[in-house]
Amino acid sequence: MKSFSIGKIAGIGIELHSTFILLIIIITGFLAIFSRETLFQTLTLFFLLFLSVALHELTHSLVASKLGFKVRKIILLPIGGVALMDDFPKKPKDEFLISIAGPLFNFFLVLGILLAAQVFALPFPWELFQENLSMETFAALFDSAIMNYPLFAFMWVNLILGSFNLFIPALPLDGGRVLRSILGLFFGFNKSTKIVATVSFYLGTVLLVLGFLSGNLILAVIAIFIILGSRQENEVVLMHESLGNIQIKEIYSKSALILSSELSLNEAFDEMQKMNETAFLVHLGPSIGIITTDKISGFKKIVRSKIKLGDAAELVPNVSLNANASDVLSKMNAKNYSLLPVFDNGKLAGLISIENLQKKYTLAKIS
Ligand code: ZN
Repeated sequence: MKSFSIGKIAGIGIELHSTFILLIIIITGFLAIFSRETLFQTLTLFFLLFLSVALHELTHSLVASKLGFKVRKIILLPIGGVALMDDFPKKPKDEFLISIAGPLFNFFLVLGILLAAQVFALPFPWELFQENLSMETFAALFDSAIMNYPLFAFMWVNLILGSFNLFIPALPLDGGRVLRSILGLFFGFNKSTKIVATVSFYLGTVLLVLGFLSGNLILAVIAIFIILGSRQENEVVLMHESLGNIQIKEIYSKSALILSSELSLNEAFDEMQKMNETAFLVHLGPSIGIITTDKISGFKKIVRSKIKLGDAAELVPNVSLNANASDVLSKMNAKNYSLLPVFDNGKLAGLISIENLQKKYTLAKIS
């Protein structure tokens, strides 16, 4: 699904995922019809959630940048966000610091808000903190506090966001990453990922059952997010492991069709349809670039016949025949390249695609 750019902070692009927007539209529509009086407060809550998720991700990203990782962009989802980095931290210490930073910032905000409310006597529902409140009184007070005290709502959102991310020890949540980094000290990155992925699967399954039994839809969604997300992280590790001892020369495609930079986007697209390919290499002077269906679809249909590949193709790095397949996979995943040119002694020898790498992994998996 698409995400929409909403700005840039410290050189890091921030995007809002379409599920976030969709959720806001659905809830706004629902409340506008059935409960108009709570509409404003609910939208305020959403804004506070959005702000908290953004600050959480930004903290991860700033720590990652400090440790030397390049963060390309942050995508904000309703239940958290993802910071896309060019390389992912494999050293336990790096992963620990980056993962724990986000939730710690949320907790820091919680304490800051409590302190500020106390010191500056800001409007705050202190009656909630009394002892001896019955469950019913507490629940009623809480409901009205969330709606009427934005500062309290902001504190609550941060408390939930920080806790849920840090204290569930499952991938792809921060808690799972912290656990992996601690296990990583003893077992290394790959083995630790496998252990945490297994823990995540069982935990996700338990949460899913609990979510359904208690009718808690959000819990069920989080459980599915954990089951699928941890599986995916495990796949990536397994794939890197099976490609670790492979050189590009064992798996690259020798016959690479290269398009001329003089072709138009339309002509390139015709070629794609004819060859049933979604990407091609393109001659860009002495260098090689790539053109993909994604790139072409970014241009309006009427201008595609006027734009030349020389102006639209993306310049990409070369891969040598002796390069390690696992390193090349990291490079391709980081920048979302579907293929890269392979060079032998300064001369183009062919190409390596994500499919080439996946086929090798599939073959290794069943052998
Ligand atoms: Zn996080």
